[in-house]
Amino acid sequence: AAGRERLIQKTKTVCTYCGVGCAFEVWTKGRQILKVEPGQGPANGISTCVKGKFGWDYVNSPERLTTPLIREATGFREASWDEALDLIASRLEGLRAAHGPDALAFVASSKSTNEDIFLVQKFARQVIGTNNVDNCSRYCQSPATRGLSQTVGIGGDSGTIHDIEQASLVLIVGSNTAESHPVLATRVKRAQKLGRTRVIVADLREHEMARRADQFLRPRPGTDFVWISAVCKFILDHGLEDRAFLAARVSGLDEYRESLAGYTLAFAAQETGLPAATLEALARQIAAEERVCILWAMGVTQQCGGSDTSAALSNLLLLTGNYGRTGTGAYPLRGHNNVQGAGDMGAMPDQVSGYQKTTDPLTVQRHEREWGVTLRPERGLDNTQLTDAALEGTLKGLWITGEEMSLTDANVNHLARGFEALDFLVVQDLYFTNTARYADVVLPAAASLEKEGTFTSTERRIQRLYRVMPPLKGTRADWEIYQAVAQRLGAGWNYTHPADIMAEIARLTPFYAGVTYERLAGHGSLCWPVAEDGTDTPLLYTERFHFPDGRARLHPATYKPRASAPNTEYDLHLNSGRLLEHFHEGNMTFQVPGLAGKVPDTFVEVSPELAAERGLQSGQWVRLVSPHGAVRVRALVTSRVQGHELYLPMNARHAEAAVNRLTGSGGDSQTNTPAYKDTSVRLEVLPEVGDN
Ligand code: SF4
Repeated sequence: AAGRERLIQKTKTVCTYCGVGCAFEVWTKGRQILKVEPGQGPANGISTCVKGKFGWDYVNSPERLTTPLIREATGFREASWDEALDLIASRLEGLRAAHGPDALAFVASSKSTNEDIFLVQKFARQVIGTNNVDNCSRYCQSPATRGLSQTVGIGGDSGTIHDIEQASLVLIVGSNTAESHPVLATRVKRAQKLGRTRVIVADLREHEMARRADQFLRPRPGTDFVWISAVCKFILDHGLEDRAFLAARVSGLDEYRESLAGYTLAFAAQETGLPAATLEALARQIAAEERVCILWAMGVTQQCGGSDTSAALSNLLLLTGNYGRTGTGAYPLRGHNNVQGAGDMGAMPDQVSGYQKTTDPLTVQRHEREWGVTLRPERGLDNTQLTDAALEGTLKGLWITGEEMSLTDANVNHLARGFEALDFLVVQDLYFTNTARYADVVLPAAASLEKEGTFTSTERRIQRLYRVMPPLKGTRADWEIYQAVAQRLGAGWNYTHPADIMAEIARLTPFYAGVTYERLAGHGSLCWPVAEDGTDTPLLYTERFHFPDGRARLHPATYKPRASAPNTEYDLHLNSGRLLEHFHEGNMTFQVPGLAGKVPDTFVEVSPELAAERGLQSGQWVRLVSPHGAVRVRALVTSRVQGHELYLPMNARHAEAAVNRLTGSGGDSQTNTPAYKDTSVRLEVLPEVGDN
């Protein structure tokens, strides 16, 4: 037994699924995962959800890529790492020489470590000389980052999960929290059960959190901005605002008050379908509460006015003095394990690490010293601009790291045409993904359990992950791959361990100034901003907002009507989102038999009313058609959705059922985040029933 014990390793890692940032010990024997044991994680303690506990078999899936692939006229052939890396270096160099650095673009993965991501944007900027770099926050929380940057100065959660638990009121808008951020939802449910916290949910769909809420508001699709602004107007009109807080800490009240002129309760009731009396009671309640936290996610941000609605939620917190104290603040919930880190690390077309603008003289100077190049001031292409640039011929080469863009971008049929127009596409991933089908070179990447590094969770909490097992033979960590190509292009990178990269991040990034691997040892963690002496900041804005004068700014209200309201041809509203058992497009979780067995494929939720109207039963095949494409899925009749609203999970086992065959290219005007949630379709009932 002692010998057996010796073969068993226990290694700390951080979950690679959602942004809650659960940490745990993984028990292994060789590559066999024996169990996952939570206990000391600062975000989760003894909790995990089903994905964190059982969702790891993907790392040993027979589908893992273990050798680079190069496209030939007849298909892909296996290649050595040297051959693949030489080819990438020479093609990138050739395209840059012929068309300039902006003919190339790079997509970082929000599932990679901070160190991996930092090097992707460094590669783009220092080695190639372009700002064409982005990450998948473009598809999700960029509008929240924008709305918060405009109002309080920092585009991250105001406090920690502990703070949310201390709120007397938690308002959740457009977030399926129990399925998308399960452990965080458990905390909210516990605070509610203890009688400490009331929970109000505003959403289209009556998901678990909505069913458990003390109050459930069901506004019409795309109208959150209107009811939030009407609540703010009512608060101001009736003198319910926190005047002392506003006078001491907030600017722009007069202009903001004026901008609200049209947002009467009557207007809001007409637009949103929520009764004026309900909105009045809500305004009075929020104003009277001691401590309010607002949580939101894709239901808010994946809309045409996602940034404005995020700013409106922040305005509501400012008006009622709900920033800077424990149990208060704004919490845009980050979807991927390290999407917060991807933004922090500067995988964005206009900012380097720590949200420093490429136009800021101090930032430019600091990078000149460290990297020996001058940052270019022009904004680069973001993810949503890549397709048109490829079709117009200005973008020639693209390197995608760990993103299944051909399923997760909006309007994927259009995107596929863009991929086909490229001269050179590199895809780096765990599996031969749907996106890899378009590649010229496919590189096998290491999984998080095989890597050292750090992730930053939705709490701005930076945590270390240790190598649970060596990389599967033939795979490499992202940072090693980028370094190998950088060296071939003469960049002289010489990192020997991710800790070297973190040291550089700390030198270049004021928010990470005091982050070291030693300070993060074991289950240690730090919430940024981290001062040079290692002091971190779990709760923001206790004394100052993040503007030069220390004052927050109320953001004036403007109304953006929906882009694609249902019409006679496309008469149904289509919503989309996650399921508890699967993550994102499902590439990893469908490789886990225990999870795939529970939910083997996607389906569309149809209301009992609509089912009766169309003579439809659960299990029947339907075809959903939008102006952009069509999918065929089975129907599930459920009262979670109502009337002419549908819900199609984004976790599709087969690319043919991907919701983004239906979504359009329009989006939030400030961030280009696609308006995934603003999709209209028609439904055709297919004659067959059952498996066909
Ligand atoms: Fe992982 Fe999120 Fe589940 Fe925690 S709640 S175990 S971070 S998927």
